[in-house]
Amino acid sequence: MKEFDIIIIGGGLSGSSTALNLSKKGYSVLIIEKEASGNIKPCAGGMASSMKKYLPLDIDESIESKIRNVEFRWESSDNVVADLSGESPFWIIRREKLDRLLLDEAIKYGGEILRPVQVEKITQQNKTWIIKCNNKVTYKSKFLVIADGSQSRWAGYFNLGPRKPKFANTIALRLKGLGNIPKDSVRFEFGFVKYGFAWAFPLKDSVNIGLGTFINNKLLENKDLNNKVIKSFGFEDLSFKVVHKKLRIWNGLNKLNGDRVIAVGDAASLCDPFLAEGIRPSLMSSYFAAESIDECLSSNNNDLNNYSTNINNEWGKSMAWGKRIAQIFYRFPRTGYQLGVKRKTAPQRIAQILSGQMNYEDIAMRVIKRLLTKSKD
Ligand SMILES: Cc1cc2nc3c(=O)[nH]c(=O)nc-3n(C[C@H](O)[C@H](O)[C@H](O)COP(=O)(O)OP(=O)(O)OC[C@H]3O[C@@H](n4cnc5c(N)ncnc54)[C@H](O)[C@@H]3O)c2cc1C
Repeated sequence: MKEFDIIIIGGGLSGSSTALNLSKKGYSVLIIEKEASGNIKPCAGGMASSMKKYLPLDIDESIESKIRNVEFRWESSDNVVADLSGESPFWIIRREKLDRLLLDEAIKYGGEILRPVQVEKITQQNKTWIIKCNNKVTYKSKFLVIADGSQSRWAGYFNLGPRKPKFANTIALRLKGLGNIPKDSVRFEFGFVKYGFAWAFPLKDSVNIGLGTFINNKLLENKDLNNKVIKSFGFEDLSFKVVHKKLRIWNGLNKLNGDRVIAVGDAASLCDPFLAEGIRPSLMSSYFAAESIDECLSSNNNDLNNYSTNINNEWGKSMAWGKRIAQIFYRFPRTGYQLGVKRKTAPQRIAQILSGQMNYEDIAMRVIKRLLTKSKD
């Protein structure tokens, strides 16, 4: 029976970055991944460059576009453009490349990956995890990281994250060429999708297009990605292949660790419930998970509680406001667009959210302050 310091279930973005963070610290790490090789992920690849601080390596080769403008439209018109200030605060990365880079680097530092392998049973014996897999081999570890994404089987098993997970429904595709999307601009298109929006994020030679619905569990069908949406992004060819995905979104401040076990990324329900941003919390949670596990292993204790506290403080508090904003905005999108997006300072604020300079809590506090000041007048 092979023994590791840490076993990670899931080798996507959060599993690979946790593996790299930990193998760089000198720990023995095994990733167990159910898929054979890195398929194209249904992910538009938008990422705040400020997340560099949570990245354990240089990811330059996965960056395809550096974004200077964020454009918002209502049914192809009523444009609002926000200029992003500073040194390109928002990047579009090719997800399959980023995941590969992180994984390869983790392997360079001694990390191991088993694929395609499924975990069948997990038990604990004398403070050691015993993990039985479908390759008929059993592995042992001191700590366990759950990184099996939005369809996580294991987060619920260990009571990590919300008892009732909430999901956004998404459709994604990648089209060759840039259509009418400038190479340094991302576009958010409202009005075509009930309870959500459509987006177009440019790579070097193609565009990641997607639709998402965020409330009322509104399901999306291929016909929702209709001519109107595709044409609004400047494409004529309608013979595309799409991927449907249910994306687990943030749903409350919850405990994300147990005894020697931690959930990261989508498995921990960290994805932004308003804009589907999941790369940032994946990298953040991977970083804090590795820090907490390192602290435990180096001081021979098993208290991972500071992990849940850190994530809830650094991310969850903002998402609590993001969830409230989503509930109102997507229920009354026309009014939301007029009062929210078309407000003079709003696009800049949303751009600041996307680039990590501001969070939903900051915005909510400003609005509340404004209301209080007005009510005193
Ligand atoms: C359409 C779409 C567009 C998006 N666009 C953006 C964007 O522009 N910006 C942004 O910040 N976020 C975006 N996101 C969110 C982002 O993609 C996710 O938050 C991110 O992929 C989470 O990474 P993860 O490693 O937690 O999960 P995943 O990347 O899903 O990885 C989970 C891994 O676990 C494996 N796995 C699953 N079950 C098991 C099991 N039982 N055993 C072993 N392995 C298992 C899977 O095969 C997979 O490799 C988007 C999401 C969608 C759906």
